[in-house]
Amino acid sequence: MLKRKGILLVVSGPSGAGKGTICKELLKSNDKIKLSVSATTRSPRTGEVEGVNYFFISKEKFKSMIDNGEFLEHAQIYDNFYGTPKASIIETLDKGQDVLLEIEMQGAKQIKDVYPEGVFIFVLPPSLEELKNRIVGRGTETQEEIEKRFSCAYKEINLISDYDYFIFNEDVDTSVKEVECIISSEKNKVSRY
Ligand code: 5GP
Repeated sequence: MLKRKGILLVVSGPSGAGKGTICKELLKSNDKIKLSVSATTRSPRTGEVEGVNYFFISKEKFKSMIDNGEFLEHAQIYDNFYGTPKASIIETLDKGQDVLLEIEMQGAKQIKDVYPEGVFIFVLPPSLEELKNRIVGRGTETQEEIEKRFSCAYKEINLISDYDYFIFNEDVDTSVKEVECIISSEKNKVSRY
């Protein structure tokens, strides 16, 4: 029986492109994919649940996790820190189970350095105007944060060349199908066995 490692799927792209929604929908219809829950120092938003959306931790705890080498990658975004805990990711992949990371682009770059066999997908908004509408429409950020996120996203779009695939996120269902197609063709790659 042929055996392969799980696929480390890294979904990234500018804030507001819709990568979070795509990942949420992807997980609903693919219960074998395991989501990596990140740690963050930002405060929970209404409805967010500890250990489901994030592990919400203090800056002190975050720094000690960095010092103890507990992150696969970590990044500072605006005034907060975000990181992917190493715990169990490699073991999960070794067992043949796929793992999904939904992270921003500094982190994706670090993962590419340590785990180049990951599959790197860049999610793009249909247009920059639409990107701004989405960041504003979420209603979770202040005006100052919106401006920061938008100007950052504008620069980040140039980083697409580091990725294996891109998706123009015009509608979520189509984007999810595209990610599923990427996963199934990656699974048939001879080099994965
Ligand atoms: P939010 O505060 O809106 O939940 O997330 C802000 C950004 O942080 C999003 O682009 C999200 O993808 C990214 N992010 C979430 N978790 C991680 C992580 O563990 N590492 C990195 N590098 N980025 C993350």
